[in-house]
Amino acid sequence: MKIFVVNCGSSSLKYQLIDMENESVLAKGLCERIGIEGSKLTHTPSGGEKFEKETPMPSHKDAIKLVLEALTDKDHGVIENTDDITAVGHRVLHGGNIYTDSIQVNDDVKKVIRECFDLGPLHNPANLIGIEACEAAMPGKPNIAVFDTAFGMSMKEKAYLYAIPSEYYEKYKVRRYGFHGTSHKFVSGEAIKFGGLDPKTAKVIVCHLGNGASISASIGGKCVDTSMGLTPLEGLIMGTRSGDIDPAVLQFICNHENIDVNEMLTILNKKSGILGMSGGISSDFRDVGKAADEGNEKAKNALEAFRYRVAKYIGAYAAAMNGVDAIAFTAGVGENDKEARKLICEEYLGYLGVKIDDDANNVRGKNAVISAPDSKVKVMLLPTNEELAIARETLEIVSK
Ligand code: AMP
Repeated sequence: MKIFVVNCGSSSLKYQLIDMENESVLAKGLCERIGIEGSKLTHTPSGGEKFEKETPMPSHKDAIKLVLEALTDKDHGVIENTDDITAVGHRVLHGGNIYTDSIQVNDDVKKVIRECFDLGPLHNPANLIGIEACEAAMPGKPNIAVFDTAFGMSMKEKAYLYAIPSEYYEKYKVRRYGFHGTSHKFVSGEAIKFGGLDPKTAKVIVCHLGNGASISASIGGKCVDTSMGLTPLEGLIMGTRSGDIDPAVLQFICNHENIDVNEMLTILNKKSGILGMSGGISSDFRDVGKAADEGNEKAKNALEAFRYRVAKYIGAYAAAMNGVDAIAFTAGVGENDKEARKLICEEYLGYLGVKIDDDANNVRGKNAVISAPDSKVKVMLLPTNEELAIARETLEIVSK
């Protein structure tokens, strides 16, 4: 069985074709600048040469058509025709408070995705366009929506309600939803398997530390809390996002700079985080790390604040679960930056009995236990794989 995984952004489309017999990637690729001048498809068949094509892609429909042509091409294709594809799994950002799990797309599902446009204005419209493009290109093929918010739906009211007048939840469903849910679900599941933990009771904290960063607490694989909120802006310090902030800061800066709340939110989403704190050096953790190594104080402060915020959340989530069995690091920084993992654990988490083994921590990009044998909490590096997670969810639904 082969699952086609599609992740549509507003002007991009990432895809993978995964053979579920052995969970191997047959081909992957990217369409960039959809609807903009200079559109380009990059297609890489597994073990083959990268194929690039610059051609106009006025819409996601055109992009899907090109991708299917590439997948079935006699030179760089990997399947005979689209009949070889069992189903399509779509990453969908927001399922509101309706969908607690992945689901096969029908008219009702599309209606909910549409109703959530204001909750995910950059992603949900593109996600729906991707679904409709696949429906048009492959009529009758099952399309499965895998929601980034689904994992967070198991949170209780005490974790997901904001302390604001209840009418805003009742009228507009303003609550904490959480994002990166596919990654948190995948990695917390891997932590249970790889760490040999009890699948029903394991208390796991997953630190998804990348350009976007979030942290989750789960018991037995079910989310009890997560750091992103109504939107991905809340929580940790990220590449360009501020994470948690006193809302009064918005009013204060708006008044002094004579800007409105929309401009302020753009600043908090796009110009803050380590980019903003470092004085504009970069949103990329490696660049800021290099500047810090060269003695730049703002860069040092930005990275220290990032690690401090992660550690504060770990402490909070250990309290929320009344204990923690395992902490898992994942995503760009979590998988590659041994220094960040070590400093977060050693500077702040000794009281929990966390001990890192330096040799074991000298690893990147593969499953590993990085804590010492006598550490009270198992600390792991577990690479995330959102495409595989989407493919697994898709297969599970079409196999029912
Ligand atoms: P992601 O969003 O998960 O792709 O993560 C991207 C971030 O991971 C970028 O800011 C990278 O700088 C960061 N990253 C990747 N490798 C390293 C590394 N070796 N050390 C520190 N940060 C890294």
